[in-house]
Amino acid sequence: MQPPNRARVRRIRDRLRLVYGRPFAPPHEQGLNELILTVLSQSTNDRNRDVAYLALRRDFEDWAAVRDAPNAAVELSIRPGGISKVKSARIQDILRAIDIDTFDDDLAAMSVDAGRDLLVSLPGVGRKTAACVLLFAYGKRDIPVDTHVSRVGTRLGLFREKAPFEELHDAMLEFTPRGQEIEFHVNLLRHGRRTCHSRAPKCGECALLRLCPTGYNLRQAD
Ligand code: SF4
Repeated sequence: MQPPNRARVRRIRDRLRLVYGRPFAPPHEQGLNELILTVLSQSTNDRNRDVAYLALRRDFEDWAAVRDAPNAAVELSIRPGGISKVKSARIQDILRAIDIDTFDDDLAAMSVDAGRDLLVSLPGVGRKTAACVLLFAYGKRDIPVDTHVSRVGTRLGLFREKAPFEELHDAMLEFTPRGQEIEFHVNLLRHGRRTCHSRAPKCGECALLRLCPTGYNLRQAD
């Protein structure tokens, strides 16, 4: 598939910007915190993720203490976040696989490709999680494509239908202008949550309707 036309991408960006503004999230340089937070975000909402993360930070002195604790104690702590058996095992596996003391600085010093390779080599860490860490913790040029971003982008014709995850991430990097990685990720995600729902997209009230082939087809079929 050819990358989408740049002018069209800019029009999509501008319309999303009018609705949702320009999100701003300066890098915090805490890659390990971001990694654990992202693991906790799997299959739950932001609120439950945050409750689980704060409980973990409250219940254990540091990441080494989480690593060395009985799994049952970690699992109990993060239970509000859902699928806690899987997540607690994954978090402890990750913490055993890294040097906790140097992880953040090592990642900060790496190129995007090297950082991504390191992250996806960790237990249960895929391309989306790696992109969250690289982008939100360090401001490096990678962009997470979650279920909302993937759905909205596919309906808009920015992604190939049924493209695998790896291709979605590569395509997102291809069409997103430099310096607007967080904006594209956050605003497509917001649009998926608020308007372009999975089962019943609200095309009639969508700011992107005139730019969206799926919306056009759905309206024609009404
Ligand atoms: S027009 Fe419909 S399908 Fe297209 S982005 Fe908007 S809500 Fe989604």
